[in-house]
Amino acid sequence: MRTIKRAIHFDFHTMPGIYDIGQGFDAEKIAQQLSDAQVDYVNFFAACNLGFCYFPTKTGAAYPGLKSDLLGDIVRECHKRSIGVTAYLSVGLMHEQARKHPEWANMNKDGQVIYGDRTVNFFRNMCYNAPGFRAFLADLVREICAYDIDGLFCDNMVYRPCYCNACTEDMLARGIDISDDAAVLAFNREVLMRTAQDIKAIVGPGRYLYMNGMPYHLFRDIDTHIEIECLPSGGWGYDFFWPHAAYARNIQDTVLYMTGRFQASWGDFGGYKTKASIENDLYDGLCNGLLPSVGDHIHPAAGLVGGIYKDIGEIYARFRRYEPYTLGARAVTDVGVITNSPGYLGNDFLGLGRMLGELKLCFDIVHQDMDIDRFSLVILPDNMIVNEPLRAKLRAYLDRGGKILSAGFGGLAVQNSGDARIHLAAGETMPGVNGDMAATDPKTLSFAFALPEYDAVLSGADLSNSSYYYFTRLPEGSVEMPWAMYKQGILMTANRPEDVRARYVKAYFNVHWDGMHGYYYTPPEKETGHTAALRCGNVAHICFPIFEAYYDKAMREHKLLVKQLIDELHPEPLLKPLEGIPSTARVTLTGREGITLLHVKVSYPEPRGRFDIVEEHNIQKVGARVAVRGRYNRVCLLPDEKPVEWQYENGYTIITLPEIVGYDMFLLE
Ligand SMILES: [Zn+2]
Repeated sequence: MRTIKRAIHFDFHTMPGIYDIGQGFDAEKIAQQLSDAQVDYVNFFAACNLGFCYFPTKTGAAYPGLKSDLLGDIVRECHKRSIGVTAYLSVGLMHEQARKHPEWANMNKDGQVIYGDRTVNFFRNMCYNAPGFRAFLADLVREICAYDIDGLFCDNMVYRPCYCNACTEDMLARGIDISDDAAVLAFNREVLMRTAQDIKAIVGPGRYLYMNGMPYHLFRDIDTHIEIECLPSGGWGYDFFWPHAAYARNIQDTVLYMTGRFQASWGDFGGYKTKASIENDLYDGLCNGLLPSVGDHIHPAAGLVGGIYKDIGEIYARFRRYEPYTLGARAVTDVGVITNSPGYLGNDFLGLGRMLGELKLCFDIVHQDMDIDRFSLVILPDNMIVNEPLRAKLRAYLDRGGKILSAGFGGLAVQNSGDARIHLAAGETMPGVNGDMAATDPKTLSFAFALPEYDAVLSGADLSNSSYYYFTRLPEGSVEMPWAMYKQGILMTANRPEDVRARYVKAYFNVHWDGMHGYYYTPPEKETGHTAALRCGNVAHICFPIFEAYYDKAMREHKLLVKQLIDELHPEPLLKPLEGIPSTARVTLTGREGITLLHVKVSYPEPRGRFDIVEEHNIQKVGARVAVRGRYNRVCLLPDEKPVEWQYENGYTIITLPEIVGYDMFLLE
């Protein structure tokens, strides 16, 4: 397969009524513009969200009035210039087909095939189980694959419950209770998996295939790579990318960061968020060892916006100069965060990614089935309940000297006997029960710490909604006061006073309504003897879901509490920020045989109105220092290999950084 180095993703969703469609479309000119912009790979539309095809089709619906073969022309012209082309096919949205064949459309629980906001995309979706649609889709994929394409990008793959006749008949025949929403959704997930397998069989080996929207881990054998779709200023938020990058790169070897050029979001013809903003995103990609891709939407009659491709050309020219070092390099990490998510990560991981990034910890996120031996510290975040295979893995990991930090319900295992249980009151739901626990009624479960190293009494769920904590040892720069948890987890009590790192403080009241007053003001009352954070030898636990709380409120003390525990468990991390490196900077390592790359990124967005904006780059003054574990013989600034001041001290190579505008990469060897 053609390697991907610098990509562009084109949208081309065209409403009926563009009378001059394709008029300004000159494949030769577009391919040359892409080549001049150093682009070597494009996702290019075969069929759009409206269900229109942009090539002469016998199966699908050609765009009305379109005379030329946009797909064929672009494949030919791009290949002439050594640019790979993956065909874009919107699988989940095909309004033209769903309109003409309502029996191919997803039907909601109320029996509707049109629902929700009709001025956006997803008011009418396809049913992948409808026999007619299944055959149609296979024929369409065959037609597209008859072109000399390098791959297929399937978009809008979403599983959602479907109550159409075909689905209902099939579910009833299989004994599925159609009043059980989870069972209906699970059936749909199976249907989508089958659809994806149908498509994969047609696409065949030797071509790229990516199912956009499907969970990365669940679809690891179908996808050939991952394109992390994330317009950080356009709806995803700036905290989405980092944890998903840390997870995706452990699932596939080739992972792209697909950001977009838009000011608002997809489909924004009149918005361009500035060159610095695109650079900011793609620098995040470099920090994580990922490849760059920029999303665009071609005007249906006018072709590319030249100025944007001039900017992209300058960005990609710089990236190209990094490639002798970056190609084949992977993230270098010593902290492993475990998840049971099939792909997409929740707010706990978004908060965790932000917090660990601010702390400059080198972390990967791995599925609970993956290996954890290479990590010197493992984190079980807020909701990471431990099943038996994971418990055995953690047991062996601890026996080899590994360290574990857990929080909230992380580190607990379901247990139906024993003293340490969480008893849930009737009607109460247990937060954070997910993954393979989802099918079990959480009210019937009781929990215990998964490993005996947690030397504490677990007395149940924390039923407060307003509890606080005191640090045992106040972090530098903090003040002595009870700190709000903002989210509650469990009540625990350390067996040894010397293990306590933070003390639990109850509030006078819960936030509640008593018939006369809404109890909004709930000050801290007193300590109860419970422990908010503890460290017992090689394990540490924080009683509340601190990472999700950090995503919600971003309180510095939550980060300082995590840092205290990590400093104890993991005193010699791969990286140590020394003076002059602010919390807003990101510092990471990637590497391959013989070389290590240090990435320092200092740009970050400012909230402006409803948007987070990067208009120009931040500048970090000369003289900031960072320590990288190990002894190196040479440190220089890339891509020109300009020497940088450094010294070796106590097991670390200490690098004095030059002035950094936005981002820089350093070579250590
Ligand atoms: Zn259906």
